[in-house]
Amino acid sequence: MSTEVIPTIQLNDGHTIPAIGFGTFQIPDDGSTYRAVKEALALGYRHIDTAVAYFNEDEVGRAIKDSGIPREQIWVTSKLWLQDYGYEAASRAIERSLTKLGLTYIDLYLIHQPYGDVPGVWRAMEAAQKAGKLKSIGVSNMTPTLWQKFVPQFETIPAVNQVEFNPYFQQRPLRQLLAAQDVKLEAWAPLGQGNQALFNEPIIQQLAAKYHKDAGQIILRFEHQESVIVFPKSIHSARIKSNQEIFDFELTMAEMAQLRTLDTGKGQHDPDMPGVQERLLGAFDVHADD
Ligand code: NDP
Repeated sequence: MSTEVIPTIQLNDGHTIPAIGFGTFQIPDDGSTYRAVKEALALGYRHIDTAVAYFNEDEVGRAIKDSGIPREQIWVTSKLWLQDYGYEAASRAIERSLTKLGLTYIDLYLIHQPYGDVPGVWRAMEAAQKAGKLKSIGVSNMTPTLWQKFVPQFETIPAVNQVEFNPYFQQRPLRQLLAAQDVKLEAWAPLGQGNQALFNEPIIQQLAAKYHKDAGQIILRFEHQESVIVFPKSIHSARIKSNQEIFDFELTMAEMAQLRTLDTGKGQHDPDMPGVQERLLGAFDVHADD
């Protein structure tokens, strides 16, 4: 795919983000992230989603540097982990992510999990944005309840909310809330994290046959037409390539309506569940090497 054809989406802060990117969750830092990101960039992706808690920011940064593509042509997202919440800790963590990525600025920086001193973190992010270290700032995993709890305390409205989203979990109430404030939804698990039941849904298979596409492309195209920002992850060349070949066909309104009926209203992860913060804090230690 040539880079000219990647559509962009306008954020509420004036920046434009490539509508499709490349996800890097669960790609290890043993050279695999470097290879996958380098390949994705060579194939035309211009948007990479990482996080300090993925432990691969250094390889993402090296792949970007070695790609030879001018820095300003690549959109880089990273995220702050729960251990670094509060103003001071967040400010230091932003510097550490910049160092690991080998960048002077990050295009989009997110509060990865919405618990604890979220307002303190947000103030640190606003300050880093004013200083030019972060271009856009946003949140992740905010349900309507968590959004209403924290965002009214913020001076700036987040540019995005990155949440679980795929045909099985279409986030209708949240999308209404976000649309009212011109906040864009980014999808994590856009392919249901490789959910075979989703790929094998009869309507998805029928559309794949009709358009000579695969199930992944139908799912990603549906999400794109729903104005959701996507960044599928794969370590396989053929899928890295095919996942972004979704701009040469269009689903009809009737087909979109059919795909909307796959919504179950539920995802794999419920950020409102009691104990989530503790479980997540126990899952990743981003300071293990300090
Ligand atoms: P995805 O929905 O992108 O699914 C990735 C899985 O699907 C992998 O197992 C991959 O396998 C498989 N896959 C990829 N393409 C295809 C295809 N065309 N056909 C069949 N299987 C396929 O899940 P992710 O969790 O990775 O979500 C995407 C990105 O979102 C992450 O990488 C990360 O950047 C972000 N994210 C953010 C979270 C947050 O809390 N903010 C949480 C989770 C993810 P293989 O690699 O073997 O090809």
